[in-house]
Amino acid sequence: MKDKLISIVIPMYSEENLIHECYRRVKQVVENNKLNYEMIFINDGSKDKTLEKLKEVCNIDKNCKVIDFSRNFGHQIAITAGINNAKGDAVVVIDGDLQDPPELIIKMIEKWEQGYDVVYGKRTERKGESFFKLITAKYFYKFLGYMSDINIPRNTGDFRLMDRAVVEYLKNMPEKNRFIRGMVSWIGFKQTYVEFERDKRLNGYTKYSLKKMIKLAEDGIISFSTKPIKFIIKLGIIIEFISSVLLIYGLINNSDHTLILFSMVAFFIGIQVISLGIIGLYVSRIYEESKDRPLYVVKEKINF
Ligand code: UDP
Ligand code: MG
Repeated sequence: MKDKLISIVIPMYSEENLIHECYRRVKQVVENNKLNYEMIFINDGSKDKTLEKLKEVCNIDKNCKVIDFSRNFGHQIAITAGINNAKGDAVVVIDGDLQDPPELIIKMIEKWEQGYDVVYGKRTERKGESFFKLITAKYFYKFLGYMSDINIPRNTGDFRLMDRAVVEYLKNMPEKNRFIRGMVSWIGFKQTYVEFERDKRLNGYTKYSLKKMIKLAEDGIISFSTKPIKFIIKLGIIIEFISSVLLIYGLINNSDHTLILFSMVAFFIGIQVISLGIIGLYVSRIYEESKDRPLYVVKEKINF
């Protein structure tokens, strides 16, 4: 263990009030366990003094590094940059707001030493989350499980340890719409989990706006499933059947069916719009991927 390097990737978006505390907690864990470590902080276009605070930490501790983004690219991209720049034999991704307890890293490392390649944190309880967040998260994972073509474990975020082998594969997955926990599941290898209670956010408020949550859910579903398209086809077959029956019925009875006709037309228009929308989602992804732009823009790198 002593000769192994552990990289700890920590995304930060406008978290000026928890940089030092986050560093202190993680540092305590690595020090108590005499780990070789590097901490890679990503400043994801923060609007406050996050960068200054991160620089302070970097001055105290040369094992701390910062990747400073030119603007906010989002949590999943921030993690990607951290993973891409990590040198460790194992890479741990952890939230900066200490909702994921750093102490759990030790348990993850134990599993890693037993031969597991991915150890993810599975939350048993979520303290201090809004009712809305709990409900949406629960149904999102249910829906994702049903929709997805691969098995993405429930109640897990991106808090996880990955072996170098997994990291190398992840680095070779160039997709722009990234749902990292799904990509890691897709890679496979020997995966296991350790359970933990998700703590309250230490300070500040969630940086996952509703818009960002919807984008994440969309990435999870569209990137890992073709079920929506298959669903459209099934729906189309059902509609064809119903409308044929109605048409035959109308013809046989020779009656005035203005209302039925009208509602049927409206119904069809609705179906078409939904279908187009779903197809549009897939097409827009082809467009996104074909642009082949870099994932993020780095303004500055410190201590690398
Ligand atoms: N984060 C980020 N970029 C973003 C949104 C969030 O780097 O656009 C970071 C944030 O600073 C935190 C972590 O990702 O360290 C998790 O975000 P947050 O705690 O807001 O999400 P929640 O726990 O509410 O799902
Ligand atoms: Mg959080």
